[in-house]
Amino acid sequence: MTMFIQGHQYINGSYLVGSGESVPRVNPATGAKAEDVDQASLEDLELAVQAASAAFPAWSRLTPGERSGHLLKFALALAARAGELADVETAQTGKTVRMSHNFDVPGTIDNVNFFAGAARNIQGLAAGDYAGNSTSMIRREAIGVVGSIAPWNYPLQMAAWKVLPAIAAGNTVVLKPSEITPGTSLLFAEIATEAGIPAGVINVLVGPGRTVGEALIRHPLVQMCSFTGSTSVGRHVMSMAAESGKRVHLELGGKAPFIVFKDADVEAAAHGAVAASTINAGQDCTAATRAYVHSSVFDKFTARVAGLMNTMVVGNPLLEDTDMGSLVSENHRSKVASMVERAVASGATALAGGLAPELPGAFFRPTLIVGAAQDSEIVQEEIFGPVLVALPFETDDEAIALANDTPFGLAASAWTSSVTLAMRAAAEIEAGCVWINEHIPIVSEMPHGGYKSSGFGNDMSSYSFEEYTNIKHVLISHDTAAHKDWQDTVFKHRAD
Ligand code: NAD
Repeated sequence: MTMFIQGHQYINGSYLVGSGESVPRVNPATGAKAEDVDQASLEDLELAVQAASAAFPAWSRLTPGERSGHLLKFALALAARAGELADVETAQTGKTVRMSHNFDVPGTIDNVNFFAGAARNIQGLAAGDYAGNSTSMIRREAIGVVGSIAPWNYPLQMAAWKVLPAIAAGNTVVLKPSEITPGTSLLFAEIATEAGIPAGVINVLVGPGRTVGEALIRHPLVQMCSFTGSTSVGRHVMSMAAESGKRVHLELGGKAPFIVFKDADVEAAAHGAVAASTINAGQDCTAATRAYVHSSVFDKFTARVAGLMNTMVVGNPLLEDTDMGSLVSENHRSKVASMVERAVASGATALAGGLAPELPGAFFRPTLIVGAAQDSEIVQEEIFGPVLVALPFETDDEAIALANDTPFGLAASAWTSSVTLAMRAAAEIEAGCVWINEHIPIVSEMPHGGYKSSGFGNDMSSYSFEEYTNIKHVLISHDTAAHKDWQDTVFKHRAD
């Protein structure tokens, strides 16, 4: 990609060459060097935060209708450059063009359109006379400059999820995408400017987490940190935000269970499991990772899943027929492969996959593991690759207990034809999203967030405004008396 020759920092409505050291970026599907990426220095960070801070007063004072108008134009401008966005997304991540064109880009545009509407409908309690002779009302106010940090798995959608609710509510943003996938976040900001969103409202800084990310979180003008990424880094972000008592929103790792009850449609569950465990090459925080399958249908389910996985075409992400492209990097492929190797070495079996195909690039076959123990690494820890582990269970209680038996709580699914079991699973599984007879679909109208070590707060939906607004109570007295009755508790009214 030679498109960012003006630099990989987007500050105050323009590109800038970062004054940090450049690092090479590799196309993960070919292993070839793609471009040199300039990194932000702390001076660049200062420029970005100052730009966001300067843009805040005017942007936050726009009416909701005016901000909505900007977002509607932004959605149209993104749609006009959809093909380019999808191509860059594939080039930087190795995901298939089918995914980029049909999922990442349309999902992002839908999110912009959703927040254009939601911006005009930010809710609070109706005004009420709660204390007698006075009226209380709620003001929802923008917080200020939001420092957002995003991961590499869905770079465009993560940029959208971080930026949109923040700016729809009147905040301004400095976004730090993952340093290995900066391209579509930069285009996102550029297209926002092209659509008329004022300079400084969306700024993008590209650089390492340890320097640029940490300095962004600690910057005194940054009022809130919004982080999506791994649980370990998320905890560190929280500790840094705590140094100054800063508001923090964390969307962290996942290890989604996938329960197949005895009465499930096994054919539907098998198709669901393959799609949900291999989407985005398994680099999806909600991907199905642990299938708990009733022992009476375990062999049928695993044989079908392995068979379907073996039909998947893995390879060149630019070909329309390819089902799964590469993982995001060779480093990450090695991490996934070594987790699978350790599981097999300790007694588990790969019924499908378990190997990298003979291709240059960071590829790994869809993999189904059986025979792993519930307390083993491959069942308990996030793999973030196309690997599903299946374990049998006997009773419904056991299935739900096993599903809840990891530190994570982001998403889960239950497959059953019983309304009672479906309702029980929905109530008892500890996760921010429970699908019934489905796994993966997300919609802009519904929240996305975690329980337990998967974080707190929500992306998407109007619930995200809870993160990105301050709530102010305003009380207006309409008591004309000079000495109000309640003041007697403090000092009695006496004749002068
Ligand atoms: P990561 O935690 O390594 O990095 C995420 C971001 O944090 C990157 O931009 C990185 O540069 C930055 N970072 C790293 N160290 C930092 C530090 N010390 N201070 C500040 N910033 C720092 O995660 P990743 O490998 O990029 O992404 C994969 C992870 O993201 C997985 O755990 C996945 O589950 C999670 N994820 C969660 C969601 C969700 O919505 N819950 C969505 C997508 C991905």
